[in-house]
Amino acid sequence: QLDQKVDVKGKDEIAELGNAFNHMAEQLQRVEHSRQEFVSNVSHELKTPLSSIKVLTESLLFQENVPVEMYKEFFMDINSEVDRLNNIISDLLTLVRLDQTEVPMNIQTTNLNDMTQAILKRLIPLAKKKDIKLIYQSHKEIFVDIDEVKLTLAISNLIENAIKYTPEGGEVRVVLQSDLQDAQISVEDTGIGIAKDEQSKIFERFYRTDKTRNRETGGTGLGLSITYRTVIMHNGSIQVESEEGKGSIFTVQIPIRHL
Ligand code: ADP
Repeated sequence: QLDQKVDVKGKDEIAELGNAFNHMAEQLQRVEHSRQEFVSNVSHELKTPLSSIKVLTESLLFQENVPVEMYKEFFMDINSEVDRLNNIISDLLTLVRLDQTEVPMNIQTTNLNDMTQAILKRLIPLAKKKDIKLIYQSHKEIFVDIDEVKLTLAISNLIENAIKYTPEGGEVRVVLQSDLQDAQISVEDTGIGIAKDEQSKIFERFYRTDKTRNRETGGTGLGLSITYRTVIMHNGSIQVESEEGKGSIFTVQIPIRHL
């Protein structure tokens, strides 16, 4: 009888191993699929500005008697396409660096109020250009153990988006609070908002909503994936609440001491 028992246990273990193996194979397949999708997205995103540059340069090169104004106009367009390429590549480099686990985080105890105020100070000119009121609300000093450079970029992305996707004369409010466990930063805007069915997709690489896809104000579609990655690396979380035509609230929670 004892033998039989051992035998049954053995079978269970083999089945368990089989399940674990299948699970791992599925995971590898998913990783490979997302890698292929990423490469294809990157190629597409880089190709679009390159094609524009090609059309613009060729029309200048092969056209006779091009007026000076046309040269100027086309070079301005080429220049902005080069800027776009530059932005995509530098965002991609940031993402790749975030994914490299061997690059350590530089964790230091940081005053979150000072950090947020420094970000806002840098963004005042951007808000002023659109006559957007930037409001900062905080009631106490909050200290967290974070990689300040990385989190600064993550929070800047949220505030820059709030300004970018809010029409002239609107309002962007940044609120800092904390409880015993978490510090919470929320970025609230009175902007164009995000449709319900798109709210979960905006954190994906290169995703841009239907409303903003063809806009001049457009960025790379990588900002929120950088923010998401960074928040996760700090053992934090991020949520979005939004209503089309009314505005959005992005909320980030970071454990006060996550080490
Ligand atoms: P982008 O560089 O295009 O701003 P992000 O990754 O930062 O890319 O954001 C992805 C998309 O999410 C944006 O293109 C935009 O469609 C939408 N989005 C992000 N923040 C906001 C916001 N505050 N209000 C409305 N839409 C937003």
